[in-house]
Amino acid sequence: MDEKAIVLFSGGQDSATCLAWALKEFPSVETIGFDYGQNHSVELEVRQVFLENFRSSFPDLTKNLGEDHLVDLSVLGAISDTALTGEREIEMNEAGLPNTFVPGRNLLFLTIAAAVGYRRNAKHLVGGMCETDYSGYPDCRDDTLKSLQVTLGLGMDTRYVLHTPLMWIDKAKTWQLANEMGGTEMVDLIIKDTHTCYRGDRSKLHPWGYGCGDCPACELRASGWSVYADGASHQEGAGQ
Ligand code: ZN
Repeated sequence: MDEKAIVLFSGGQDSATCLAWALKEFPSVETIGFDYGQNHSVELEVRQVFLENFRSSFPDLTKNLGEDHLVDLSVLGAISDTALTGEREIEMNEAGLPNTFVPGRNLLFLTIAAAVGYRRNAKHLVGGMCETDYSGYPDCRDDTLKSLQVTLGLGMDTRYVLHTPLMWIDKAKTWQLANEMGGTEMVDLIIKDTHTCYRGDRSKLHPWGYGCGDCPACELRASGWSVYADGASHQEGAGQ
């Protein structure tokens, strides 16, 4: 297996930051995305725009950015009934998890990424999972992913290394990491060309990006931004 990485790239802020991180870390990088019937399919459109603009704005950083794999996982929408894949309001379920939780989603994503990695000779898998200010999704936990790394390696008789550069940092530090990867130009690209809002709203541009402003994903992104912008005295965030 080569020192090649496959990045789970959804078109959101976290995975875009991970993609920039991976391009600095590995000599060759490919991306993978999943169409699972998410309501905010706008993410899938945005991810293409991001990849194009990322390449044109950062020709040096992206010179080793290879193929993008888009995988149809509509089966996830068919077998789960969540606020991300159905017409439901976002609320907490009995287990204390938001009903945006799609059971098994990250397990499936990483398993598919490993299978693609097997074929593409890529041993490193990179994902934006984080348990610092996450919504309690159990498949974002560090222990889940460490266990999955072992399982994938055994099940495919191949050494995989799962990288989660955001695991122990909060949203403000994720903005900071983007800045470290490509300065304010990278931060601006992430603001404009990534998507986080659960409702798929891109009608209004806030200092932190597009979104409805009051779903849990927007709230997390906005509050991280305001902490980051305060720290960086980034004037774009000063009004929020
Ligand atoms: Zn929103």
